[in-house]
Amino acid sequence: MAYYIGIDIGGMSIKVGVVDQDGNILGKCAAPTPLGDAAKAVDVMADLCRDAAKAAGVSWQDIRAVGAGAPGTVCDGVVTYATNLGWYGVPLADMLGKATGKAAAVGNDANCALIAEWRLGVARGKDNVAMITLGTGIGTAFVADGHLLLGNGSASGEGGHQRIKHLGRKCSCGREDCWELYASATSLLRRTEALIAAEPQGICAAVAKERGQIDGYVLFAAIERGDRSAQAVLQQLQEDIVDGLVNIANILRPEIIVMGGGICAQDRLVSPLEDMVNSRTLGGAGNPHVFIVKPRFFNDAGIVGAAAQVME
Ligand SMILES: [Zn+2]
Repeated sequence: MAYYIGIDIGGMSIKVGVVDQDGNILGKCAAPTPLGDAAKAVDVMADLCRDAAKAAGVSWQDIRAVGAGAPGTVCDGVVTYATNLGWYGVPLADMLGKATGKAAAVGNDANCALIAEWRLGVARGKDNVAMITLGTGIGTAFVADGHLLLGNGSASGEGGHQRIKHLGRKCSCGREDCWELYASATSLLRRTEALIAAEPQGICAAVAKERGQIDGYVLFAAIERGDRSAQAVLQQLQEDIVDGLVNIANILRPEIIVMGGGICAQDRLVSPLEDMVNSRTLGGAGNPHVFIVKPRFFNDAGIVGAAAQVME
C-alpha cells in the first residue's frame, strides 16, 4: 500500500493527514497557522507530517509524496498570492520538498477539493465536473473535457465573484453584488440573523436561543419544526445559489456539480437544486442533464485533495 500526506493550509490552522490510495485518512493532526512567515509555517508543516505518520502507524519510508493545498493563487508550486496567509511568491513546493525529503506539490485549495472528488469521490470518471464550496465565500473549481481547468497564471476558477445582482452590496474583491455575497454560508448566517431580528418571537429565534448561538444549523432546525418564514428564507437562498449555478452550467455544461462546504450536508438545501438548475439552463431537457450532488469528503476534503494531487 502506498501512503501520501495531505496538508490543508487554512488561515486559522494547518491540518495534516496520512491518506491511502482510496482516500481514507489513517491519522491526522493540526496546529495554528503562523501568519506571514512562510518559513516558520513550513517548519510547522514538516513537524506535523511526522506526527501524522506516527498517528497513522505508517513508517516514514512508506510515505510516497506530500501535497499541500493553499488558499490563494498557486502556479507551478509557488503560492503567488494568498492574502489570508500574507504570502506572496512563496515557493512552497520546493520548501516542503526540502523540509520533508519527499516529492512535494502544491495546489489551490478549491482545486484540491475538486481533485479529491474527481479522483476518489463522487465525480470519479467524469470528464466535466464543477466543485462549488459554500463557505465564508464561495470556492469554485472545474474539470473541463477531462482536464483540471487552471487558466492563465492558474488564476481561473473565481466563480464566487460573478455578479448576480444590482443591489450595491460591496464585495471584498472591490466590486459589488458578487455571487458569494448572496449564496455562501456567510449569507445563510446573515439571512438567519435577519429573520431572527424580524421575528424575535418566532421559531427560528427560539432555536437560536436554545443552541446559544446563530450557526448554520439554526435555519434548518427551525424548518424542521414547521417555521414557514425559515422555509421562505431558505428558498430565497436557493434562488441565489441557483442563479450562479445556472451561469456555470451554461458555460461549462458539467456532467456533475459537487456542492461542498458544511452547510451542504443539509439535504433540504441541496436536494431541490438539481431540478431548479436543469429547468433553467439553456436548452432545458434538450441538453444533457446536470447532476447536483453532495461530496464524499466534507471536512476532510482539504487533506484528501491535497494528498490526491500527488497520487500516481
Ligand atoms: Zn467579489
